[in-house]
Amino acid sequence: MTPQEAVKELMDGNKRYLSDQSEHPNRNLERRQELTDAQAPFAVVVSCSDSRVAPEIIFDQGLGDLFVVRVAGNVISETELESIKYAALYLKSSTILVMGHENCGAVDTVIQNNTKDIPEITKLIYPAVKRAKQKNTSDLLKRSIQINAINMANILTQSPDLQPLMRSKKISINAAYYDLKTGSVKILN
Ligand SMILES: [Zn+2]
Repeated sequence: MTPQEAVKELMDGNKRYLSDQSEHPNRNLERRQELTDAQAPFAVVVSCSDSRVAPEIIFDQGLGDLFVVRVAGNVISETELESIKYAALYLKSSTILVMGHENCGAVDTVIQNNTKDIPEITKLIYPAVKRAKQKNTSDLLKRSIQINAINMANILTQSPDLQPLMRSKKISINAAYYDLKTGSVKILN
């Protein structure tokens, strides 16, 4: 699958989901058994641990389709980066989507400066909040969430291990924003 085809597959699944037409593909016994020895997920999705943003549901995908990295605030530290690189380098995934979401509690906690329990996550999110404040936006939370997703995608595009895959057009890297109410995912970059 090319990166363009992979992004289209995600977006087509999201369209089915948001219009309540989900097909729930690749969730049967046959699919489970054909995946026993190997997996080849076409996309990596980095999303928040938030219970409302499960990628397999939002993109209407099934077993073996998505390599998912979930962590509060969809932040990427060294551990997450290694997981993502594994999928890109060894499982040959064609696209990586870093997805922030509406009303992200992790980002809001940083805005509220109530961060004593999440120092590591805060360190990673804080630059986005600082940047959003400089922009004097009317919706600080939404803008911070979007900038955070873009910042995390930028960590990936700057990875020396991922850059050759991008240059040879084997993989694409995007940031996205998920709207809780409508269910829509919009690419940000
Ligand atoms: Zn969140």
